[in-house]
Amino acid sequence: MISPRHFFTEKLLEWNREMNTRNMPWKGEKNPYRIWLSEIILQQTRVEQGWPYYERFIQNYPTVTKLAAAPEEEVFRLWQGLGYYARCKNMLAAARQITNLHHGKFPDQYEEIKALKGIGPYTAAAIASFAFNLPYAVLDGNVFRVLSRYFGIETPIDSTAGKKQFDTLAQELLPEGASSEYNQSIMDFGAVVCKPQQPLCADCPLRKKCVALHNQLVPLLPIKTKKLKIKKRYFNYLLVNYKEEIFIRKRTDSDIWQNLHEFILIETPAPSDITAIQSSEAFRQLFGNITFEIDRVSAPFKQQLTHQTIHSQFISITLKKRPDLPGYMLVARNSLNNYAFPKTITTFLESNHLQLF
Ligand code: SF4
Repeated sequence: MISPRHFFTEKLLEWNREMNTRNMPWKGEKNPYRIWLSEIILQQTRVEQGWPYYERFIQNYPTVTKLAAAPEEEVFRLWQGLGYYARCKNMLAAARQITNLHHGKFPDQYEEIKALKGIGPYTAAAIASFAFNLPYAVLDGNVFRVLSRYFGIETPIDSTAGKKQFDTLAQELLPEGASSEYNQSIMDFGAVVCKPQQPLCADCPLRKKCVALHNQLVPLLPIKTKKLKIKKRYFNYLLVNYKEEIFIRKRTDSDIWQNLHEFILIETPAPSDITAIQSSEAFRQLFGNITFEIDRVSAPFKQQLTHQTIHSQFISITLKKRPDLPGYMLVARNSLNNYAFPKTITTFLESNHLQLF
């Protein structure tokens, strides 16, 4: 009798050849640079949202060498709207690594690929298998779900033991010489058949030997231990106008939105009204005794990140004298388009058409 493992691989590949109609724009792509770009852009981003970005990147930087040579500010502007800016920063660093260490040729060995900035085991396995058909199993959310359900594995997928167990199993299931096809099949299968909600068990080619199905475990698997803790932050942005210019700075701390620009920021632990902000120590430190006028205060803005909710308000202020603000620079208000800002600020700028200045 065929073992559950053989049954799994055989049925999965059969499903892929005969029934898989999932149409993804990058399917069949063999160019490692393009695969890498699509993987980085599509991390935590929906295909419909990420795909136009991928096309713009390919158009502007058709090779990894072109990307490596691009000015950082230009690349960040092209990325604007995708969020998770650390991805963009790492992507640029990796392009430069490839140019400097590999003479512009994308590495074709798993360990060398994994050594590139911002590339973890999943992305390295995807590039190694899709571009070079190397025997490395991908392990993403879809794969965890399919394996945990079919094999009835109750070890939490976010525990060290779970990661090791799933990693070993995924690697053992990889059919010789067909890693590219197998990886694509299992990811597609998890996306369209063994879905997070309402999986298509009734028509599933794996149903005969699926442990979760036969033990009423489908809605319970996969198991996760950690619940995501979301932190709330309150950003009060001061739009400080001086003549035709406005103060901005580049965020350089190891925090969200690194390398993006912002207005003068006073962060408070809770929502604050304008009276509390202008009498705060932070405000006094910024402006000392300079006379000012509060012009307008915006409606609240909200941006949801994976681990944080950012609540922002924008306060337009006119000062009678130019303050000395270390770390900030004065730029022409009509030149703001030249700078990359986080989404919450671009949304504010677009929605107000600069009327708050
Ligand atoms: S039977 Fe259902 S739970 Fe099991 S592999 Fe198929 S779709 Fe997933």
